[in-house]
Amino acid sequence: MAVLVLADHDLGRLSPATPRVVHAVAELGPIDVLVLGEGIDEVAAEAAAIAGVRRVRVAQDAGLLGQSAEALAPILADLAEGYTHIVGSAGAVGRDVFPHLAARLDLMPVTDVVAILGPNRFQRPIYAGNAIETVVSNQDKHVLTIRASAFRAAARGNEAAIEPVPHGDVAAVAKFVAAHRTEGDVPDLATAQIVVGGGVSVGSAEGFKLVEQLAAWLGAAVGATRAAVDAGYAPNDWQVGQTGKIIAPDLYIAIGISGALQHLAGIQGAKKIVAINTDAEAPLVKLADVALIGDLFTVVPALIGELDRL
Ligand code: FAD
Repeated sequence: MAVLVLADHDLGRLSPATPRVVHAVAELGPIDVLVLGEGIDEVAAEAAAIAGVRRVRVAQDAGLLGQSAEALAPILADLAEGYTHIVGSAGAVGRDVFPHLAARLDLMPVTDVVAILGPNRFQRPIYAGNAIETVVSNQDKHVLTIRASAFRAAARGNEAAIEPVPHGDVAAVAKFVAAHRTEGDVPDLATAQIVVGGGVSVGSAEGFKLVEQLAAWLGAAVGATRAAVDAGYAPNDWQVGQTGKIIAPDLYIAIGISGALQHLAGIQGAKKIVAINTDAEAPLVKLADVALIGDLFTVVPALIGELDRL
């Protein structure tokens, strides 16, 4: 058995998801990491430093810049023969590439894996995270996406070999046009240790600044409910939940958030939850480890004031 992990990377840096995926599959066999893109020497070096990696395989081409499924899946499919498991993180790229790859290989993909029980036994959430399904696959080869936030990161301290892999004419299948990015220096939601989330009750984009201010104080990522995003108080990529991002911080501070099932689906990995809410009966208040019952416009400034005094 051998495992091929597709590296997740952006702006020339390896994403924190990849060491977590490597840790997740550590028991399945020797691990090769595949890095696809352009200007990715640093990414390959970072991947080679992950403990447990046997070798790093690299293909560089301008056509791989956009990391589209059309460009990446054929390269993975060509390499598939040497591996029993082909895996990647269940992020934006993985969600696009792996179903495409599975179709090419005529395999059933197992997506959003949160636990690996054996070479062909995997657990994944279903019904918006309200139940965990154990999948037993009778296929010889497995295509998996892994919820990186469910696993801790593999250690660093390795010097795996870095080797080029051949690839076909990528430009013929995909052309990278442009990427539109939101700028910011806050931590990544999916891997942040602390997340401060705001709900629609902040009342305005201006009101959301209170959430951002507390997050900045704590070095935390900022999250939002869909209601807050739909109201235009927070950008789309801050949405946490079933149709947003999945988070697994050590601490989640939920400000004025009721705790609808679709929101809870995204925060099940949070280790400690603090809820600030006027309603002591709100589902998230009942779920929280610590609840502060009160008006967010009083409680949050008081909290920031206390922090300022530290
Ligand atoms: P509300 O439910 O309106 O709750 C507001 C809370 O703020 C209440 O608990 C209230 O007591 C409290 N409050 C009010 N005023 C104050 C105050 N001054 N101080 C303190 N507390 C106060 N939602 C998501 O979040 N993520 C998703 O991914 C998502 N996906 C969805 C997918 C589908 C298909 C559907 C149908 C819905 C989805 N939703 C999602 C929406 C979800 O159902 C809820 O509508 C949403 O999460 C509610 O957001 P909220 O908690 O901000 O608002």
